[in-house]
Parts: sequence; structure tokens; C-alpha cells
Amino acid sequence: MKRKLPGGGSIRCFDCRKCGVNTSEIGEYYGLRTELWQGVVDCWKMQTDEFGQAGMLCIHCFENLLGRTLTAEDFVDCPLNDENRISGSPLLQQRLKNRPG
Ligand SMILES: [Zn+2]
Repeated sequence: MKRKLPGGGSIRCFDCRKCGVNTSEIGEYYGLRTELWQGVVDCWKMQTDEFGQAGMLCIHCFENLLGRTLTAEDFVDCPLNDENRISGSPLLQQRLKNRPG
């Protein structure tokens, strides 16, 4: 079941909530630490569905909202975020390997 948002698009699809790019098609489907994601959702008052899901953001847009570049530590430890995954976009792969210090 899809729910339409005022800005167009649906929460339950892969479209980036900001720029509308299909995050699945460009390979930017990833899992961030809950507090990081929730912080951005709260800060920007992003609309959520009845399960509290805010939908998807591409990396470019998420970093814009966050105000900094993502690093490996921002991603949760799961197969989706394997730094050697080949399905991710070049940008996602770079961020998954981004270990400052
Ligand atoms: Zn975007």
C-alpha cells in the first residue's frame, strides 16, 4: 500500500525525498545508524508514515541535510553496507570505505 505525500511521490518507494532520484536504480539503498537518520528526520521535520518511516534519501541529499560527509562509521553493520558490495553507486562505495583518522 502506498501513501501519497503532499510533495508528490510516496514514502514507500525508493524515490529520494528531496531530489526524487530512484535510490534503488542508482544503487544508493543503504542503512544508516538510527540516531543519525532520526536526527535528520527530526531536524528537517520530514513527514513520516504510520510506522515512523520517513522514506529514502540519496547520499547527496542526506549529506546536504546532515551538513557533512558520511563516513564508514555512520552505516550500520549489515550485509547491505558491506564495503565490498558491488551493487552500490560509486559514491556509496566511497563512503562505506571512508574511514577518517
Ligand atoms: Zn536526493
